[in-house]
Amino acid sequence: MAISYEDRGTIAAISTPPGSGGIGIIRISGSEALPILKSIFVPHNKNCQFNSHQMYYGQIVDSRGKCLDEVLSVYMQAPKSYTCEDVVEVHCHGSFIVLQNVLQLIVDSGAKFAEPGEFTKRAFLNGRIDLTRAEAVIDILSAKTRKGVNLAQEQLAGSLYNSLSPVRHSLAELKALLEVAIDFPDEDLDIVDYKTVKERLRSEIIEPVKQLLVNGDRGRIYREGVSLVIAGLPNVGKSSLLNALVQEERALVTAVEGTTRDFIEEYIDIMGLPVRIVDTAGIRDEAGEVEALGIERARERINSADLVLFMVDGSREVLAQEYRLYEDLAHKPILGLVNKADLVSMDEEALIKSHLSFVAKDVPCLTLSAKTEKGIDELRLAIFQAVTGGREQWEEDGCAPNLRHQESLNRVLDAAERIIVGIEQGYLSNDLLAVDIQECLDQLGNIVGETTTEDVLDIIFEQFCLGK
Ligand code: GDP
Repeated sequence: MAISYEDRGTIAAISTPPGSGGIGIIRISGSEALPILKSIFVPHNKNCQFNSHQMYYGQIVDSRGKCLDEVLSVYMQAPKSYTCEDVVEVHCHGSFIVLQNVLQLIVDSGAKFAEPGEFTKRAFLNGRIDLTRAEAVIDILSAKTRKGVNLAQEQLAGSLYNSLSPVRHSLAELKALLEVAIDFPDEDLDIVDYKTVKERLRSEIIEPVKQLLVNGDRGRIYREGVSLVIAGLPNVGKSSLLNALVQEERALVTAVEGTTRDFIEEYIDIMGLPVRIVDTAGIRDEAGEVEALGIERARERINSADLVLFMVDGSREVLAQEYRLYEDLAHKPILGLVNKADLVSMDEEALIKSHLSFVAKDVPCLTLSAKTEKGIDELRLAIFQAVTGGREQWEEDGCAPNLRHQESLNRVLDAAERIIVGIEQGYLSNDLLAVDIQECLDQLGNIVGETTTEDVLDIIFEQFCLGK
């Protein structure tokens, strides 16, 4: 990739999160980074040469000679830096006030406040990373499970970019082939062997692109997580289950009906999936006012959930309200749960038959005890399968294209299929074929950032936090 050194001005931002911490780091990027540092930093060692990638201890001093902080500073000479530009980091004490004072001094000395994501955008614009890698940086920052981080790190290491490279290479070859035919129309048309073009489109473009799309869902689920609601009448054991899944006492567990009035929301890691689990207020028909409010919101939560765990109490008869509640939920993906199995001496099959015979045939049902945690591992697997369309695990490797990538990949498939149809039906025009091949190339270029429009770039980089 070409490294370009266009001067985009010098930017600065606090790169550590707001709030107090041991240290806070201010990052400066651009041609003025070092001159600005030299104008505000008084090194302890008077012989300091500001060698690249070396830490120096000293003070940040304003124009009136006032010391703003004792810091460590480091200069990273272009292009060996995050942005490929000259970068300076000033490691201050982690006080927001100190950091703001130092940042203001840097801006007064000639830098601009950086936009969100501007450092990473420069790394992209300067050719250090492609767009899939820049997007991976966002994903790493927002990932909620270890597996999500791993996937994003693989993408940062180039997994998606590298998977696209052979596809792009083949397209470029096909394009060159067709261009010869276009440039020399009078030559024998056999110059292009369409059967081979067709075969290559199938094996070198369509197949690998489809393979990438298979994993698209996985990426979405890992990035966004799934939301899950535990629904059931009061006292069936919803909070106890939440606790068992979360493995720490967060929800209020009580034997008095209707005390879990609001929602307790937790992110839990179910076999690597980030699952946002919501414990709703017990749903009853005759409820008090406060509870009624909770119930209304519970219904809203249920409606927006990706999966509902419908729970009944195995130690008592099913109530009429439970049939009605199930009717309310039946349009959602559901797992049926008979809880408190420890209190009954029936086997799993009999317990499900006696308590959940009214749910639809295709609703998977389990028994468990939230108290003894028997059946929890089976529930975890059932949740994973319900969310991933029946898989027992995800493929270990491979990429996870996001929605933007998926849209482009689908367009590649459309264009490639058009070419094949054209060849098969014999209404061939090399010009048209070349247009479709170019469309494929442009779409793949869009994914890696080579043909991406300014608007799309803006949307992508706006998702970053300040200082990244
Ligand atoms: P919720 O109102 O649906 O959230 O129900 P809770 O989780 O507050 O549980 C209501 C009562 O049932 C509490 O006393 C729990 O200890 C008890 N409980 C919950 N799950 C089980 C279970 O699996 N077995 C037994 N024996 N008791 C349970």
